[in-house]
Amino acid sequence: MKNDFQVIIIGCGVVGAAIARELSKFKIKIAVLEKEADVSFGTSKANSGIIHGGFHSLQGSLKAKFVVPGNRKYDRLCEELEFPFERRGELMVAFDEDELRILQIYYKRGLDNKVPYMEILGRERVLEMEPNLSPDILGALYAPTAGIICPYEYCFALIGNARENGAELLLNQKVSWIGKNNNSRFVVETEAGNSFTADCIVNAAGLYADEIAQHMRITDFKIVPRKGEEYLLDRRVGTLIKRVVFPCPSSNSKGMLVIPTIDGPVMVGPTAIDTENKTDYSTTREGLKEVFQQAQRMVPGVRISDIITSFVGLRPAAVGNDGDFIIGKTDVQGFINAAGIQSPGLTASPAIAEHIREVITKEGVKMELKSNFDPHRKTVCTKIRHLLEKRDFEQYGKIVDKNKAYSKLVCRCENVTEAEIIAAIRDGHTTLDGIKFATRAGTGRCQAGFCTSRVMEIIHRETGIPFDKITKKGKGSEIAPYPIKKGNGN
Ligand SMILES: Cc1cc2nc3c(=O)[nH]c(=O)nc-3n(C[C@H](O)[C@H](O)[C@H](O)COP(=O)(O)OP(=O)(O)OC[C@H]3O[C@@H](n4cnc5c(N)ncnc54)[C@H](O)[C@@H]3O)c2cc1C
Repeated sequence: MKNDFQVIIIGCGVVGAAIARELSKFKIKIAVLEKEADVSFGTSKANSGIIHGGFHSLQGSLKAKFVVPGNRKYDRLCEELEFPFERRGELMVAFDEDELRILQIYYKRGLDNKVPYMEILGRERVLEMEPNLSPDILGALYAPTAGIICPYEYCFALIGNARENGAELLLNQKVSWIGKNNNSRFVVETEAGNSFTADCIVNAAGLYADEIAQHMRITDFKIVPRKGEEYLLDRRVGTLIKRVVFPCPSSNSKGMLVIPTIDGPVMVGPTAIDTENKTDYSTTREGLKEVFQQAQRMVPGVRISDIITSFVGLRPAAVGNDGDFIIGKTDVQGFINAAGIQSPGLTASPAIAEHIREVITKEGVKMELKSNFDPHRKTVCTKIRHLLEKRDFEQYGKIVDKNKAYSKLVCRCENVTEAEIIAAIRDGHTTLDGIKFATRAGTGRCQAGFCTSRVMEIIHRETGIPFDKITKKGKGSEIAPYPIKKGNGN
């Protein structure tokens, strides 16, 4: 039956996508139901992109259990799925004697969590490694295994490979009801009017995981968003630091960080403010001030005038569980939680996925490995900006000879070509945000001022979607909510 599955995963952020990819290694029918028009539109699109070393998490917690094994899996994942990942290392810096003592606490915590190759570094060594750090720093805890990625590229790669291996992704499917039928199988209904059946449900619904669990009368946790404001700086600042730089943390956050992003620009943030509102994505004057005060203390060269954009991410923090992850079986046979996955959830996601697969097996779903599972992603598009950065014009010329659309620049700030936009559309990204996350078109200095109409023209041409139905991020976010004739898009 078309809508009948062994496992339904609710939510396609990094956690749902990692689980889908893990399960796609086995001979089972899997569906991922996502409420948005594209994947990674929840918390997974708005975070710091750090693959943490693992010294922050308290021993005995689920965070600690999954963070180091998660980190370790990234080399192989990056090789198989071809998303950018660099082990740059992270430094937690100390400014006084008290903070030097805090470094020792986290060093010990790191040892408990089996974080490899950590060192406590003195002032000179720190400044030798990162000359643009404040000369007032007295020392740092260094974890060289920490890395940086682009979180949505990682999510796209996971779900893309899962789909290549047979998993189904169903977008615009907001789960509105879950129950059990007479055969004790799950029935899942969506607002779009569809009904699905499954033996097993994995709840990976991020901020809404508590509401999904409540359908099964599971009420022992509540998700309270913890808001984080982040600020992206101009590429000019890109060379200021190579490694992720943290202050000594507070009780509910790692503090404001200065983060080199995988695509070049530096990011600063995030704040950590609890809020009852699951849709509050507003940045604030106070947040900006707090972020820059702390960031400038560590890296005096970061300037507010360098900001090109800002965003907010909401951590799905679970209350009633000491803020730890909520992962595993529940009192309802076959209903499994992957909930409350706040930071370091991105880092932990590949290890969480393996664990969920074990739980599903224990819940009675028969898992037989596929002989034809292909771990390598097929739909990887050449990113022209990487060739231009390396000034590899010979290779660029060869690519253009094969496909002229690689010679047409659509986004001038980030050097994104028409061929890349077309590839993203054919890969299923049909909103402006989806294409932005897949290609970087619109993320640069002009913030899509130049390329929006060009991208709309290509979406229209490739998909036939009328101009007035093209959206930023799904229904309700139409860019030009009135009919426009073809050709007026430019
Ligand atoms: C500011 C900030 C910085 C962070 N930095 C880091 C970092 O550097 N490193 C790190 O390891 N972690 C970091 N994190 C944490 C990390 O981003 C999260 O742990 C991770 O993204 C959670 O992924 P998820 O898949 O559980 O949730 P989400 O990405 O939110 O995915 C849940 C999905 O479920 C969908 N959904 C919800 N309800 C329904 C429904 N009813 N029906 C269908 N679909 C539904 C949503 O649309 C969403 O796509 C950070 C978080 C924040 C906010």
